[in-house]
Amino acid sequence: QIVTRIAPSPTGIMHIGTARTALFNWLYARGRGGKFLLRIEDTDRARSTPEATEAILDGMRWLGLDWDGDAVSQFERAPRHAEVAREMLARGHAYKCYSTQDEIEAFREAARAEGRSTLFLSPWRDVPEAGHPDAPFVIRLKAPRTGETVIEDAVQGTVTFRNDQLDDMVMLRSDGTPTYMLAVVVDDHDMGVTHAIRGDDHLNNAARQAQIYRAMGWAEPVWAHIPLIHGPDGKKLSKRHGATGVMEYAEMGIPAAAMRNYLARLGWSHGDDELFTDAQAIDWFDLSGIGRSPARLDMKKLENVAGWHIARMGDAELVAEIGSWLAVTGRPLLSQAQQDVLAAAMYCLKDRAKSLPDLLEKGQFALASRPLEMEPPAAAQLDPVSRGILRELTAQLQNVSWDRDTLEATLTRAAEAHGLKFGKLAGPLRAALAGRSVTPSVFDMMLVIGREETLARLTDAAS
Ligand code: GLU
Repeated sequence: QIVTRIAPSPTGIMHIGTARTALFNWLYARGRGGKFLLRIEDTDRARSTPEATEAILDGMRWLGLDWDGDAVSQFERAPRHAEVAREMLARGHAYKCYSTQDEIEAFREAARAEGRSTLFLSPWRDVPEAGHPDAPFVIRLKAPRTGETVIEDAVQGTVTFRNDQLDDMVMLRSDGTPTYMLAVVVDDHDMGVTHAIRGDDHLNNAARQAQIYRAMGWAEPVWAHIPLIHGPDGKKLSKRHGATGVMEYAEMGIPAAAMRNYLARLGWSHGDDELFTDAQAIDWFDLSGIGRSPARLDMKKLENVAGWHIARMGDAELVAEIGSWLAVTGRPLLSQAQQDVLAAAMYCLKDRAKSLPDLLEKGQFALASRPLEMEPPAAAQLDPVSRGILRELTAQLQNVSWDRDTLEATLTRAAEAHGLKFGKLAGPLRAALAGRSVTPSVFDMMLVIGREETLARLTDAAS
């Protein structure tokens, strides 16, 4: 069975790079009847506050990436990591190193002075137990000194590291705590991880980690190191490029489904497909579709993806999405009545909306209550002549059948009676019905709010 995982270190936000890595792992597992696990790498106790961990979980939940089983805490597994270090010691794959920081520094100084590699070579590597002092020690991996460590990476291909450039890494510190390198390997092994799909900033770590796997005789996962996300200028993504936290996108009102689609395309491709559903992504996703060059963040594209998803979502689904956007941004929620009228309006809002707030903005006419707030350009439409026409219309709309054709015929006739094109009437009508000059079509607005409300708004505007 395929087992993937996301192993975020809680840093306070869920970075979109982490979100993308999580998505890739999720897609890979979900498309193969596999498992997708979550491990919180919370060994940095200062940074790993409950809030920082919660931020990761919030990001995962918002993105809709459900994980199997409980989230694993790496910190809580420290005793197991220490046990493996001791096992490696017993098997002769590791050794106790008593060198102090000062001694290591002195070694490096001397190496620098003599123009040798500054890679620390511990004098304790081959000292038998009998010769050990009663002093603090770290446990180091007895790494191969010659030859190469080769990683077969599903994205990067064959990656070769010279062993004389890899030191005997510390696995267990003198206080008995595990290092990151050991913890990741032990956790991935114990959790049965078959595929380690992660950012290529971990490629060098893969060599170190592979040495631990090989020393333990454990099967390595399939490695897949994905190029990082860059900003539009091709430089490593940073705050100055815009939003780096996934929840910032939630706050912008990007639907989660659109964010999944967009993130999937950041570094992965399936032919020319840009717009797709989760089901398609799950069906199509494969490691062979991951590119080798960094993807660039492109807000314009994200907007298009969001627009496509909004246009194809169901009305009730969109109202629910708007509800979660309001909640995420701490705005007041909609009443049931407001949700109902918004759902009824959705058909005329969703085709050109770029985000959830955009949708809500376009639907404002449906939620507004009288007396409407008038934006100045709309108010300017309501001159004495147009007020007169609106007054006549109020009478004419009293008894007509309330359907698009009749409304269209009635309004066109009213415009013609005054020698106007219908377009000339649209401005005052928009003002009367929405208090704005940019709105959905006047017919759509009238149909959505109904006869009674339409007449009341026209009366307000005409007076
Ligand atoms: N904790 C690491 C990070 O947040 C990920 C480690 C891994 O995926 O192996 O970058």
